[in-house]
Amino acid sequence: MDQGANLSQAKAPVIVWFRRNLRLRDNAALVRAVDTGLPILPVYVHDDSDEGEWALGAASRWWLHHSLKKLAKELQVCGSRLIVCRGAARDVLLDLRDQTGAGCVFYQRRYEVAARKNERIITDVLTAAGVEVEALNGSTFFLPTQIQNGSGKPYQVFTPFWKTCLKMGLDTEVLPAPTTIPTPEKWPVSMAVDELALLPNIDWAPGLRASWKPGERGAQCELERFLRTAVGHYEEGRDRPDQSLTSRLSPHLHFGEISPRQVAAAVQKYRGEGAASFLREVGWRDFSHHLLYHFPYLDIQPLRSAYEKFPWIEDEASLLAWQRGQTGYPLVDAGMRQLWHTGWMHNRVRMVAASFLVKDLLVDWRRGAEWFWDTLVDADLANNSLGWQWVAGCGADAAPFFRIFNPVSQGEKFDPQGEYVRRWVPELAQLPAKYIHAPWRAPEQVLRAAHVELGANYPEPIVDHAFARDRALAALAKMKS
Ligand code: FAD
Repeated sequence: MDQGANLSQAKAPVIVWFRRNLRLRDNAALVRAVDTGLPILPVYVHDDSDEGEWALGAASRWWLHHSLKKLAKELQVCGSRLIVCRGAARDVLLDLRDQTGAGCVFYQRRYEVAARKNERIITDVLTAAGVEVEALNGSTFFLPTQIQNGSGKPYQVFTPFWKTCLKMGLDTEVLPAPTTIPTPEKWPVSMAVDELALLPNIDWAPGLRASWKPGERGAQCELERFLRTAVGHYEEGRDRPDQSLTSRLSPHLHFGEISPRQVAAAVQKYRGEGAASFLREVGWRDFSHHLLYHFPYLDIQPLRSAYEKFPWIEDEASLLAWQRGQTGYPLVDAGMRQLWHTGWMHNRVRMVAASFLVKDLLVDWRRGAEWFWDTLVDADLANNSLGWQWVAGCGADAAPFFRIFNPVSQGEKFDPQGEYVRRWVPELAQLPAKYIHAPWRAPEQVLRAAHVELGANYPEPIVDHAFARDRALAALAKMKS
């Protein structure tokens, strides 16, 4: 395809296909389009039936709705607009080409196997139709293929992976947002964002609305809040669910309302352990995408294949109790309720709650991953699969299966006054800190004074942790034999 021929077609617009890069700043596809000097069609294509892709969870749909609205507003400020379409991207993009004569499509790559396959098909179809297609990176620091170990293989351990990334140098040159975006003479037809019907029919989202500001500006506010108040305490504070010392950038990063490069550029002004340790966590995100690229079935297949034979238990009642935050273990219940109410859970509690499902209840990690997928606003195939496989002991650089989190001592260590539990499990709010992570240990009169009636207004533990621990280790031994 002769690129020059396309670019010189008089006034033929170029399409910027917005995907998980719902932002104007540091948007390589948009900058590439602006550089052509041609009119630009910003397009979002919603494909409910993306073959092989995980259908968006309910919380992600809520986020996407608001994020698209915000993106449309930001584009308006630059004199442009967002064209919203529904259908298979290859059909929609071809149709837009037919309607407008567009000669180029620029977009940001994704790394999930189904998305990559789809990108290949789209590129073939559009190229055959005479449209130039260019894919750019922007969702991770490095392309998943850029980082290799000494033998030219993908890394499966985080620390050397991250060392290599740091040695190669993190790019912190942020691309500016365009102030004006050249418009086409005639706009193609667009749906309204509302017509995508992403919001729930029954409004269960007040907790999400109270907790989040989706969109590029919301991402900037969250980053500024974190840098102003928390980055210096991140190293020791990141494990404390009772304090707000993490960035809460995960949904913004997932939807590309902010890029990792923007985060790194902002953080580099801060010296010290907090900043380095925070960037390292953002590096886990690159690592999970690196793994998902090289092990494309990470979402459904354990990386350590021996775990295919793990004797999981089908236990719908326990799964339901876990989902509803009714396990009788306060830290687990607080996390699961925080998730339900806000679409997010603190990382330390994600680890404990996930461990409880997988090891105390022996429920397959994939069932837990599905629930997180539906309820998290930051649901991300790479990060979620890595997180669950890490907890289940079957992933890359994973915690060994025999290291089983004790939900009581984890609570005592990371929520020492029980403030996190008090917030999310109000039935226990009046218990003294000494008993808040194990109410069954409290004397009868203490429970009565705190208005806690075990088995009535708060459950007894659904499983005894010491028994569950032995059972999990026995299951592991069975798998190994
Ligand atoms: P911060 O501590 O401020 O970290 C900054 C950023 O680094 C995060 O926004 C995130 O993008 C990245 N990050 C931090 N920790 C990790 C990690 N362990 N793995 C990958 N990236 C990380 N994260 C998701 O974004 N989506 C998921 O679907 C997801 N599912 C998870 C499931 C389980 C079982 C576990 C244990 C973890 C999961 N995580 C997931 C990782 C982590 O819990 C969240 O990224 C983090 O809690 C988000 O909060 P934050 O933005 O305040 O994090």
